[in-house]
Amino acid sequence: MSFVAQRLEHFDSSDFRDAIRKQALLINPVDLSIGVPEELTADHVKAAAIRAIINDKTTYTPSNGLPELRTAIAHKLKRDNNITLEPSAITVVPGLTTGQLLVYLAVLDPGDEVIVFDPYYPPYPHLASMVGARVVYVSTLPTFQPDLAQIEASITDKTKLIVINTPNNPSGAVYPEKTLRAIAKLAERNNILLISDEIYEHFVYEGEHFSVGSIYPNTITMNGFSKEHAMTGWRLGYIAGPQEIIDAINELQQYIVMSSSSISQHAALAALMHKPTQLVEKYRRKRDLVVTRLRAAGYELHGADGAFYAFMKAPRNLTDVEFVDRATERGLIIVAGRAFSQAHGYIRISYGADIASLERGITILETLARELQIQPTASNQPSTNTAT
Ligand code: PLP
Repeated sequence: MSFVAQRLEHFDSSDFRDAIRKQALLINPVDLSIGVPEELTADHVKAAAIRAIINDKTTYTPSNGLPELRTAIAHKLKRDNNITLEPSAITVVPGLTTGQLLVYLAVLDPGDEVIVFDPYYPPYPHLASMVGARVVYVSTLPTFQPDLAQIEASITDKTKLIVINTPNNPSGAVYPEKTLRAIAKLAERNNILLISDEIYEHFVYEGEHFSVGSIYPNTITMNGFSKEHAMTGWRLGYIAGPQEIIDAINELQQYIVMSSSSISQHAALAALMHKPTQLVEKYRRKRDLVVTRLRAAGYELHGADGAFYAFMKAPRNLTDVEFVDRATERGLIIVAGRAFSQAHGYIRISYGADIASLERGITILETLARELQIQPTASNQPSTNTAT
């Protein structure tokens, strides 16, 4: 008999264990698998952290974060997202992954239903199941744009929450304002909360980012420092929304987190003072390189309008795992799409990596396309970003 709790039963990584074992044996592989930007944390951010250490700002902070950081975040939300909230309606968390769990613990009862668009960032469904909620998947394949009629058809009297992530990991889709307004209306009519994970908000190459929290008060807006500020290892994010929910999260934080790292919070305050420049143009060039060359090679690829991922179809009836195996044999590490989707025919490619690695990786994929004799087809056309 196992001592491990039943709630972990659905955490099954057996599909990937074999791939990871093979990938670990590669010498000098090209790694296009991870969601980490190529930039390093900026010097002024590192200096602020060092100053915090030297000045002994190394003790617990309030559970909801340093007041001056929450004030700076409130300004940022107003300026960039048109969201007006008091600093008390913002809580600082040790990364959005923990933040996701805290939100679920605060709002979900066992049996509540959570609508998750497929493909998804893996913690959305897994953590929901872990707290006893039921996950209702709404497929956005093949365009990666959510369809309003499908969402509406998935709503029941148990639906508590719809999780939105735009720009999207893993598809790179950017949801138009029109879509988000329509989802907000639907949520309002049915008394449903929205989570809006906006961690890739500044990585937009087609269309514009729109924060649904600016029009629908029952939105829990989540954002963090990992991607735009290249601070994945500093573990810092924030949650902003209805006061009652933030208060509940703060109660939980006292027992689960105590407080986020004081040093990271001082660094984050410095990060908010200066926006990284030319990030979008740099990532747009990388996106164009990936999309243009993979489509020309014959791969079917939609989305890729934002974030730094392409979610492309595995060609020639290969499953995602089979295609990942073929890539691994040639020294390229990519991720089988089933980590992000109920569908098993997609691959996620991250272009967080530097151009030289991308060039090497794309060349391998072009070679594979020739081996598999795939041809460009009409369905390889770019997405138009107009679906509702
Ligand atoms: N949300 C999305 C959509 C992500 O892709 C990621 C990381 O890849 C996260 C949240 C995690 O953010 P954090 O580093 O703050 O835990």
